[in-house]
Amino acid sequence: MAEHGAIFAAMLREFNVAARIIDLEPGVWNILTHPKRQIMVSCPVQMDNGEIEVFTGYRVQYNITLGPAKGGIRYHPDVSLDEVTALAAWMTWKCAVAHIPFGGAKGGIVCDPTKMSRRELEALTRRYVAEIIDLIGPEKDVPAPDVNTNDQVMAWVMDTYSMHVGHTATAVVTGKPIEMGGSLGRREATGRGVMIVTREAAKHLGLNIEGATIAIQGFGNVGSVSADQLSKIGAKIVAVTDWKGGVHNPKGLDIAKMLDYVRDHETVDGFPGGDPLTNEQLFSLDVDILIPAALENQITMENAPGIRARIVTEAANGPTTPDAHRHLHERGIFVIPDILANSGGVTTSYFEWVQDRYGYFWEEHDVNVRLEKKMCEAFDAVLKTSLKYKVDLRTGAYIVAIQRVATVTKMRGMYA
Ligand code: GLU
Repeated sequence: MAEHGAIFAAMLREFNVAARIIDLEPGVWNILTHPKRQIMVSCPVQMDNGEIEVFTGYRVQYNITLGPAKGGIRYHPDVSLDEVTALAAWMTWKCAVAHIPFGGAKGGIVCDPTKMSRRELEALTRRYVAEIIDLIGPEKDVPAPDVNTNDQVMAWVMDTYSMHVGHTATAVVTGKPIEMGGSLGRREATGRGVMIVTREAAKHLGLNIEGATIAIQGFGNVGSVSADQLSKIGAKIVAVTDWKGGVHNPKGLDIAKMLDYVRDHETVDGFPGGDPLTNEQLFSLDVDILIPAALENQITMENAPGIRARIVTEAANGPTTPDAHRHLHERGIFVIPDILANSGGVTTSYFEWVQDRYGYFWEEHDVNVRLEKKMCEAFDAVLKTSLKYKVDLRTGAYIVAIQRVATVTKMRGMYA
């Protein structure tokens, strides 16, 4: 097996705990801990200053046992093969927990999109898609937005792929603009799912979500919509931090005003409705619920002992290190794991893919009702499994996922 780094190792540690509990057959264990395909591409782009820069991109299809590979594409300076492989594995378990017929994939380009023009981003996106064109397709591998990518980037992906195959192929990508085959409710879906599982967890623990205090790290698509959705059901968002700064108001922040502010300033930093706050201060606030909605490895043994929340909802992928997770669990903190907590996005991506292939589009209400049902079913399956095996929710979620993928792996049997 190729060398793996720390993020994939963290995924493996989580996987192995669950696999051991269910006594997974060694052969299946071996298959499920290896990525199916990893591709690395070089994408030359002529920059606005006339110079040519070469960007490194990756696409990893971790496992496609349950269906086409599915997962976002992220643009970030810290993207690495290790990170993309771990994220592709997490997509595999996430799709299985969500009970949707997809395998897991992830893509990434090492770049700093904040320093690139729109034209440069379009050129980079199109070149990356051209480089991975043989791998993707509605029945093969279906990308979506992730960190620093959005519906416009997906429109370029769809157009580039369509130009190559000679016809318009809407179902090659999800998270597209509504006008070109996107689904109503998709943009809000990850945050809406975060709200649903947080609400269900509060119900399970006997905590009244109305008036419950919440701190959120990250105010991108996921963090901002989670804040909006949770405040709409009566929770009190008291603190938000992002890449630049943060703001705290024990009486509750006005999320509608904050959304307007961020539209103009691209950060919550300096928002007039509260006092300045750092990331480190956010983690140790005396709140009921903490929601990391940014990047990996944010909750570590450095800050976990200071966490005072009763519920941690992992809206980001991989925000808690395995050691920190064990520490939180031992202290009785209810951690809703990423592969359950943020699965609303990919679940609605599935709805979008279905609508594209069907050629018939649903009302927003229908999308939201279906998402509600899927998220509650996933939450119940994970909770029941964790109670049955007397394990934390993350291990419960892995058990659900591994059992679903392992069953089909065995049914399909070995080729050759
Ligand atoms: N990037 C999102 C995630 O990490 C969505 C993936 C998708 O919709 O395919 O779950």
